[in-house]
Amino acid sequence: MFGLMQNQPLLISSLIDFAQRHHGDGEIVSRRVEGDIHRTTWAGIAQRAKRIANGLDAWKLQASDRVATLAWNGYRHLELYFGVSGSERVLHTINPRLHPDQVTWIINHAEDQVLCFDMTFLPIIQAVHAKCPTVKHWVALCDADKLPGDSGIPNLLSYEAWINQHTDQYVWPKMDENTASSMCYTSGTTGNPKAALYSHRSTLLHAYAASLPDVMCISARDAILPVVPMFHVNAWGIPYSAAMTGAKLVFPGGAMDGKSIYDLIEAEGVTFAAGVPTVWQMLLTHMKPNGLKFSKLNRTVIGGSACPPAMITAFKDDYGVEVLHAWGMTELSPLGTLCTLKNKHLKLSEEEQMKIRLKQGRAIFGIDMKIVDDAGKEQPHDGKAYGDLLVKGPWVVAEYFKSEGGHPLVNDANGDGWFPTGDVATIDPDGYMQITDRSKDVIKSGGEWISSIDIENIAMSHPGVLMAACIGIKHPKWDERPIVAVVKKPDAQVTREELLKYYEGKTAKWQIPDDVVFVDSIPLGATGKMLKTKLREQLKDYVLPTA
Ligand code: AMP
Repeated sequence: MFGLMQNQPLLISSLIDFAQRHHGDGEIVSRRVEGDIHRTTWAGIAQRAKRIANGLDAWKLQASDRVATLAWNGYRHLELYFGVSGSERVLHTINPRLHPDQVTWIINHAEDQVLCFDMTFLPIIQAVHAKCPTVKHWVALCDADKLPGDSGIPNLLSYEAWINQHTDQYVWPKMDENTASSMCYTSGTTGNPKAALYSHRSTLLHAYAASLPDVMCISARDAILPVVPMFHVNAWGIPYSAAMTGAKLVFPGGAMDGKSIYDLIEAEGVTFAAGVPTVWQMLLTHMKPNGLKFSKLNRTVIGGSACPPAMITAFKDDYGVEVLHAWGMTELSPLGTLCTLKNKHLKLSEEEQMKIRLKQGRAIFGIDMKIVDDAGKEQPHDGKAYGDLLVKGPWVVAEYFKSEGGHPLVNDANGDGWFPTGDVATIDPDGYMQITDRSKDVIKSGGEWISSIDIENIAMSHPGVLMAACIGIKHPKWDERPIVAVVKKPDAQVTREELLKYYEGKTAKWQIPDDVVFVDSIPLGATGKMLKTKLREQLKDYVLPTA
């Protein structure tokens, strides 16, 4: 017997309809590429999303055709999120930090038909457009009078001119909730990039989950600054959760430096911000010497890479801001776990609480996870045993676009497919998961594993250290030994000997790195994560003092 409830499909268009009807005057504030601050509302976004939908219809784009963006976080990008997916096309967000050859490959693989880009990225478009035969329409996200006459891009159109040709009267199509809505290519370090193809259903379920109190706790009283880019995994789904709850959105555009972010947080009364650790490092580096404080910011979600303890402490003790550590992946839309305390933890000491906050957190309802050994045997949730982390859930990929990379899931005895994350983790009896490493970054010394994240976190807690990356170096006796590459804070005097001494008592003796190598910078990938492959390449002639 079936239940007798309405079978309404979960569609992205329902989010923007809802935001327009119930939070029409909710603010959307953007720092534009042009440098000024732009203000609109959820109603304004909804109207212009409908103009986009009419514009795509006029170009005769078919259902599931791909519309690509190469754009910062801003109101025009938000309009495209709803106008493209709502009208049954697929929004393909491209990471502008990729090499132009990768951008070309991705556009061709996705067979994008329209490409909308911020003027900052004109040089990329100039480099790639002739090699992208599927793209029929190039749209610059600017006013008509800002369009360069000599761009070299055939029939380049201004976004404003394009959408203003069309009305804001549009009825969103009804479709199956499993219809594809958006796609994002993974930054994969080996093989071709692979695309996660999200659906309306997965996006809505993720938006509900992300808004929960023990997740990002998003409400109509929030002003949210997603520093996490809309060009990578839909800014962690924040645009959708904000529409679902009527939260105010504040977009930083391309100005990601500490001062610009701080000024925007204060000017717009931001209560909640989300980003990767490297961005917050820049913010803290700007605030401390200038004696600045936050007036309304009360929490920040940090994920994408392990959050150093020193950052959690600085936010909490110096600025009264709660850091929520999160873990996710492109393949998970992206949220998998988020670290909030349980009731019983509130009576623990600060130090004990900190041990929990450092973990990547508990599974969000919808995500199931387990750790397995090399033979696929499930490992206990005792906080000590570690293994490959596998996940399943309604916003986890089943396979990649065009079956790239083959069938990724591992089936269990019940025939359920689990996605192998490539991360190595522990899970404690309370369900808190902690990543020890990417499986390919694990350091094996004398048959024992050393967590590069632990080694980095200790270095990062030293007041003279700006950034640290730990890698394994071949060793004749121990197979591998860890070293730590360190970027000093400006004017810091820290020495190799001092830093090695600093490790004593903070980790087991055999886990202390064999050497400290000072570097000017740590190579970062397109999503702001440390590129250890590149660091290893840079240090390929390095010889261990202990070898
Ligand atoms: P991406 O798909 O580019 O977003 O990268 C996903 C990967 O980033 C994960 O598989 C992890 O290796 C890493 N990652 C994400 N969040 C965290 C975190 N909080 N701590 C450690 N690693 C993380």
